[in-house]
Amino acid sequence: MSKMATDFNAINLSQGFPNFKSDPQLIELVSKAMMAGHNQYAPMAGDIQLREVICNKMECLYRAKYVPATDIVITAGATQAIFTAIAATISKGDEVIIFTPAYDCYAPTVALFGGNVIALQLQAPHYTPDWEEVKRVITTKTKMIIINSPHNPSGMLFSESDMEQLQEISEVHDLIVISDEVYEHIVFDDEIHQSVARFPDLAKRSFITASFGKTFHNTGWKMGYCLGPQELMNEFKKVHQYNVFCVNNPFQKGLATYLQDEKTYLGLGAFYQQKRDFFLDAIKDSRFKFIPSKGTYFQLLDFSEISQESDIVFTELLTKNHGLATIPISVFNKDQRDEKQIRVCFAKTEEMLQAAADILNGL
Ligand code: PMP
Repeated sequence: MSKMATDFNAINLSQGFPNFKSDPQLIELVSKAMMAGHNQYAPMAGDIQLREVICNKMECLYRAKYVPATDIVITAGATQAIFTAIAATISKGDEVIIFTPAYDCYAPTVALFGGNVIALQLQAPHYTPDWEEVKRVITTKTKMIIINSPHNPSGMLFSESDMEQLQEISEVHDLIVISDEVYEHIVFDDEIHQSVARFPDLAKRSFITASFGKTFHNTGWKMGYCLGPQELMNEFKKVHQYNVFCVNNPFQKGLATYLQDEKTYLGLGAFYQQKRDFFLDAIKDSRFKFIPSKGTYFQLLDFSEISQESDIVFTELLTKNHGLATIPISVFNKDQRDEKQIRVCFAKTEEMLQAAADILNGL
């Protein structure tokens, strides 16, 4: 859709990336690290100061103990962390439960290592998990469950009760969990991010994957990390060592200093909530139906009152004829189910959001 947006000179609210700058202070810290000569390989698991500051953050936010020396690896974005965690644990015939609509890298990576994806469709418009359904599909081959909260693309959050049920199920069936928490700091309306790290019996069987790109408005840096108990991270490192060995050094140095100030990430929810509210207010009189996103920088819009075209055709027409690129949700759904929902990314300037709203209001 980003390519189509360029081809048709359309406003691009499709792919998830901000159209504003990363903090100049962070860019300066990275530049300084390069000038200071930190341009050779970093340690395999990552810069130790960066690992320490992240482990401290986990303790402050979630009262979780992760040991910098053993329980964390700095990765080339969350995608590499997810890939490596799956590569390290999934073999031929293993079953992996995912919830759809799902971020696009989970299923192909599981399939690449011979695993079978068991996709459970979350029901529009609330997209809440059905734990009874999860129990029904578990077999002796079920090895892993992948969760993502705040959830891309729906903007849904897992509740404390969801996490408790996940904890119980994964203990009873001895499952490994990947908890994709890339939007951990983008949570709205005084809700709480229910990290698996808050639940000790869950954390001890879980990988947490995270991305600096989402938190610091620099998705192109591809910097992230993976946290987990030592036994799981030992397996993770066996893959990481021969996959990338380590990720780039000066960015790690810059981030290690920048992250020491918690203000750099704690204000992010309020920052994006303002954008969500601006955008939803601007389209409140449109014919789209929506439930305000609870987290992430995505908002779903139901277009069923406007058109009965498939969501794919609708987003194509919206891009080509009206100059606004969005994402059809069916591409993330089980069996490409079409529920007349499109996703917009509101990590954009108010000027761009207003221009997009003007188009949506005209439909
Ligand atoms: N998980 C989810 C849910 C995402 O939305 C994204 C990015 N769109 C990623 C993982 C990948 O993050 P990164 O760019 O750090 O690889």
